[in-house]
Amino acid sequence: MDFDLSPEQEEFRKAVRRFAEDVIAPRAEEMDRSEELPMDVVEQMAELGLFGLPFPEEHGGQGADFLTLVLAIEELARIDSSIAITLEAAVGLGANPIHTFGTEEQKRRWLAPMARGEILGAFGLTEPGGGSDAEATKTTARLEDGHWVINGSKAFITNSGTPISKVATITAVTGTREDGSKEISAIIVPADTPGFTVGRSYRKVGWHASDTHELAFDDCRVPEENLLGERGRGFAQFLAILDEGRIAIAALAVGLAQGALEESVKYAGEREAFGRPIGAFQGMQFKIADMQVRVETARLATYKAAWLRDMGRSFKAAASLAKLHASEVAVTCAREAVQVHGGYGFIEEYPVARFYRDSKVLEIGEGTNEIQRILIARDLGLPGTDL
Ligand SMILES: Cc1cc2nc3c(=O)[nH]c(=O)nc-3n(C[C@H](O)[C@H](O)[C@H](O)COP(=O)(O)OP(=O)(O)OC[C@H]3O[C@@H](n4cnc5c(N)ncnc54)[C@H](O)[C@@H]3O)c2cc1C
Repeated sequence: MDFDLSPEQEEFRKAVRRFAEDVIAPRAEEMDRSEELPMDVVEQMAELGLFGLPFPEEHGGQGADFLTLVLAIEELARIDSSIAITLEAAVGLGANPIHTFGTEEQKRRWLAPMARGEILGAFGLTEPGGGSDAEATKTTARLEDGHWVINGSKAFITNSGTPISKVATITAVTGTREDGSKEISAIIVPADTPGFTVGRSYRKVGWHASDTHELAFDDCRVPEENLLGERGRGFAQFLAILDEGRIAIAALAVGLAQGALEESVKYAGEREAFGRPIGAFQGMQFKIADMQVRVETARLATYKAAWLRDMGRSFKAAASLAKLHASEVAVTCAREAVQVHGGYGFIEEYPVARFYRDSKVLEIGEGTNEIQRILIARDLGLPGTDL
C-alpha cells in the first residue's frame, strides 16, 4: 500500500494551489458578492489545462488520471467553491458524458473545445418536478423527419448560462418500452438551437459565482445524430456519469473542509480571550483536532474512490461513501470554523462565512445524501433498496 502521491501529482497540486492563492483568493469575496463567474479566471484555468485533465490528448485533454482531477478540485475548493464547482461540473458533467459515450464526430465537435476550456457543456438531468427520482423525467423527444423534437424543462443546471456555455446534454423520454416503462435517451442540444431557452439565474444560498439556470425546450429540433450513446440507455449512462461526479464532489468537500480547518488554526492562534490565544483553550483545541480527523478521513475515502476508478475497479459504492462522508465533514467543519471565529465568523469578510453557506449544497447535489445511503445499503444487499 502506498499513500504517497507521485512527484508529478505533487508538482501539479502545488501549481493549482499557487493559482488558487494568487489569482482566486484575492477575488473570492467580490465574486461571492457580485454573484458572477469571472470569465478571465475561467480562461486562466483553461491555460493551466484544468478542463481537459482526464481526457486523452487527441481530444484536447491532458491524459491525466482521475486522482489528478480530484487534487485540482480539492485545491480550488480550499479557496473558493464556486470556482471548484465550475471545474467539477465542466469536466465531470459537461464533458465526461461525451468522452464516455460520444461518437468520434461528437468528441471532435464538442469534447475537444470543452477539454481546451473554450466552451462549457452542461448536464441536464434534474427537472423542476424532481431530481432524486430522475427516472420520472417528463421532458420528451420525438423523432420527426430525422430530428429530435424536444419539449420540457430542466432545473438547477450548472454552467448552462455563461458566455461560453455552448451545449447541454439532457435526458428525455424517447418512447415507451414493451413493459410500459419510459424509454429514456441522452441527447446533445447546442445552446443556439431555436426553442432552447436559458432561464434566469437562481439566487442561491451559496456557490454564488457558479452559474446555475433553469432550461426550457419548446419544440426544440436537433439532428437525429445528436443522440448520445445508445437509444434507451440515457438514464443508465447519466447514472454512470454521476458515479464519477460523486468522487469529484467529495474532492470539493475535502477542499472546503481543509480551508475551514486552516482558517480556524490561524484564527485560534491570533484571537485572544482572557489574556490568552483562544487556541490555548482545550475547548477550541478539541474542536480543531476533531476537524483535522474529519478532513483526513474524508480525504482518504475520496482518494481511495479515485484510486479504484483509476485502477479500473468497481468504485460505485466507494464513490457514494466518499461523497456522503466528505459532504457531511464539509458541513460540520464549516459550522465549527464559524464557531471558532465567534461573531467574526458570521461576517462576510471572513472566508469561513462563505464556506458555511457553500457547504450545504454538497449534501444535496449529484444525488442527495439520502440517495447515497440507499446506494450504500443496496451495495450491502439490504432489501427494498431497488427504487
Ligand atoms: C446549485 C445546484 C446545482 C445543481 N446542478 C445540477 C446540474 O448541473 N445538473 C443536474 O441535472 N442537476 C443539478 N442539480 C440538481 C441536484 O442534483 C438535485 O437538486 C438533487 O439531485 C435533488 O433533487 P431535488 O432537488 O429534486 O430534490 P428531491 O428529489 O425532491 O428530494 C427532496 C428530499 O427528499 C429526499 N428523498 C427523495 N427520495 C427519497 C427516498 N427514496 N428516500 C429518502 N429520501 C428521499 C431527498 O433526499 C431530499 O432530501 C443542482 C442542484 C443545485 C442546488
